[in-house]
Amino acid sequence: MKILLAAPGTGKKEKRSISGRAFQVPPLALGILASLTPDDFEIEMVDESMRDLDFASTPDLVAITSLTANAPRAYEISHQYRERGVKTVLGGIHPSAVPFEAIQHADCVAIGEAEGIWPRLLADFRAGRLKKFYRGRKPDPSQISIPRRDIFERKGYFLKGTVQTSRGCPLGCDFCSVQRFFGDKFRFRSVGSVVDEIRALATKFVVFVDDNLAGSRSYARELFAGIAPLNVKWICQAPITIGKDLGFLKMMHKAGCRGVFVGFESIMPDSLREVGKSFNVVARFHDHIKRIHDTGISIEGAFVFGFDHDDKSVFKRTLDFINKTKIDFAQFGILTPFPGTKLQERLKRENRIITEDWRKYDIAHTVFKPAKMTVEELDRGRRWIEDEFYSLKGTVRRAFSLGRRTHYLIPMLILNASYRQYIKAFR
Ligand code: SF4
Repeated sequence: MKILLAAPGTGKKEKRSISGRAFQVPPLALGILASLTPDDFEIEMVDESMRDLDFASTPDLVAITSLTANAPRAYEISHQYRERGVKTVLGGIHPSAVPFEAIQHADCVAIGEAEGIWPRLLADFRAGRLKKFYRGRKPDPSQISIPRRDIFERKGYFLKGTVQTSRGCPLGCDFCSVQRFFGDKFRFRSVGSVVDEIRALATKFVVFVDDNLAGSRSYARELFAGIAPLNVKWICQAPITIGKDLGFLKMMHKAGCRGVFVGFESIMPDSLREVGKSFNVVARFHDHIKRIHDTGISIEGAFVFGFDHDDKSVFKRTLDFINKTKIDFAQFGILTPFPGTKLQERLKRENRIITEDWRKYDIAHTVFKPAKMTVEELDRGRRWIEDEFYSLKGTVRRAFSLGRRTHYLIPMLILNASYRQYIKAFR
């Protein structure tokens, strides 16, 4: 029997350009499905960001993973295969948040993490009794699968060494889908299994895809001690609060960390309070950023616009803040009420959602009525700050403010140029 594992694209060809591929990571969810699949099934994996699906070849089962912005494309793919008599399964964050919507487009919806579902679902499929819905218990840390990476080989990914050490988050920010999907507690894999996985990757560069690698300082310290001897360089996501602990930062750097993705979200304290992220203390941002930089770790900051306390001045104020603190790389998004989040519930109650065209839920479009701006002002402001930050002038300014982080100069210039090209193509 043959299974096709599919990751839908956005339908934008430019994602396959060199600049698009620079930001593309292999779909780990599909690697996990592959690792949970018995050996007697034949597996093919297609990530539409890298190549087209071939609808002429018909497998026995198609499993499609989906986020919100690519859900319409996931549904299209599912329909195409069903018209050819192939059974389809939808899973991932979006179908799990809206299973009754998803089931209108597939034979089956897998709600939640794969480990508690996929083996059972495949056994039922093999026996010809596939159910409409499967829901599973959250796996214990020891049951979290290591993705089968052979399915990503020769697919053209630049970033291959992606690793997940934990799932879940107890913090529960209003706009975030992580807690609903992965639960409100951290579940950490054993450090030994993470070290073994990295060693098997045989790479010198790892991307930790955890939403927060520093959620537990004691686990993180144990992890850093475990990976330091491997002599790999790595990047991760962590809160800005890591900047208050110099000893922790030094250990992180010694273990190979060279870059951290930080969700600042906003430089407006009221906005952070509004969405339950007041553990980000704006008054301490400068100090924390400086300490992280001084340790030799670069920062990519994520900034979000459209909170109820944001007016038109927020874009200029944010750019001034970024220039002053010398943040190396930045992502600018529009607040988006993803299905199943507290933010969506609130905006629905306030009758402020203006579209449920999921294609627009890509953080580059405004899908609700902002409080202190028009939709156009919010869209225009986000584009303005993106253009300013990635302008030649902005890039040169950052190149001259690297300080200790000279190792970052070449990657920084490449990333800036790629991102500028990517933005142009995306728009
Ligand atoms: S935004 Fe980060 S800290 Fe907040 S709930 Fe999501 S993963 Fe946790």
